[in-house]
Amino acid sequence: MADLFFESIEGVKKPYIDSLQRLLKQLRSPFAEGDDVGIKLHWGERGNRSFLPPDYAREIAAWLMDRGAKPFVFDTTVLYSGGRRTAQDSLNTAASHGYTAEFLECPVIIADGMDGKNVVSIPAGYKHFPTVQVCNIFEQAKGFVIFSHVKGHMVSLFGGAIKNLSMGFASRAQKQRMHSDYHPVLNKKKCTRCGLCVEICSTKAATISEPEYPKYDLKKCIGCAQCIAMCPEMALQIFWNSDMTVFQEKLVETAAAVWKKIQNKSVVINALLNITEECDCLPGKNHIIGRDLGFISGYHPVAVDEESLKKTGTDIFEKAHPGIPWQRQFTYAREIGF
Ligand code: SF4
Ligand code: SF4
Repeated sequence: MADLFFESIEGVKKPYIDSLQRLLKQLRSPFAEGDDVGIKLHWGERGNRSFLPPDYAREIAAWLMDRGAKPFVFDTTVLYSGGRRTAQDSLNTAASHGYTAEFLECPVIIADGMDGKNVVSIPAGYKHFPTVQVCNIFEQAKGFVIFSHVKGHMVSLFGGAIKNLSMGFASRAQKQRMHSDYHPVLNKKKCTRCGLCVEICSTKAATISEPEYPKYDLKKCIGCAQCIAMCPEMALQIFWNSDMTVFQEKLVETAAAVWKKIQNKSVVINALLNITEECDCLPGKNHIIGRDLGFISGYHPVAVDEESLKKTGTDIFEKAHPGIPWQRQFTYAREIGF
């Protein structure tokens, strides 16, 4: 508990900058002068109205600059269509939500690159994932601030630091590996027969012969999801995993692998504000299910998420998303030494 800090928003006017400043003052900075530090956050899907305003990220960037560090803000591209599927779309969405270099006074980047290919496999060594594929950001940043908006989620119950480290760092293929049954199924109406899925399939499971549509040999397919992630037409269907417990474990494994790489120079901050039923990946006005509480920070994502749930209570999320075995995130994190 000594390494967890909470600052309430009681008596503070929106956007609660004073609360965040008080929190940051208490934090022990692990960053050295001149360190490039990535602030990992989610600027909200195009049309989403409950994302965190950029004022907080700007405050965190200012705190880092005061310590001589060189901050930048980043996110990764996503699997589904919308305003963040491509890097350029995502940057446009960021800008429309106020996340610009001018306002933040630091760069805003897409960590898996403008083509989604700036990714790297890092060791994991767990039962679902021997390795995980994530954005290739580890050379670019000496340290990280994992800044997460705590809110509900239809598969993980809630989204906080664990989810931000996991889905947030994951390549599109890794996102698919966590979410899905992994085998591509073709929607012929969308397919232009461009052949890219065949080109990138490492096992030769995908084949195409003119003038046919591509075929996928499920005996050879290893479920790497590259074809699904990279198809320019989104002609390969994404299947969402029906085994919720496995999803929780995969989420935790990916987060744990990333954390192993960055734990020595990272801080974790959760914002218990705009607590909505669904995540910021959905467009539109999300239903608010909890009152604004404040900011929690610390040096471990599992501890910060656990403390966040103690503050919000889990009932608000369980009522919105009944039947999700979310506790598995915490029991499994302990089992694998995360
Ligand atoms: S990459 Fe997509 S559009 Fe191109 S051939 Fe494969 S499924 Fe069709
Ligand atoms: S999921 Fe991977 S192995 Fe299977 S067809 Fe697609 S690219 Fe090939």
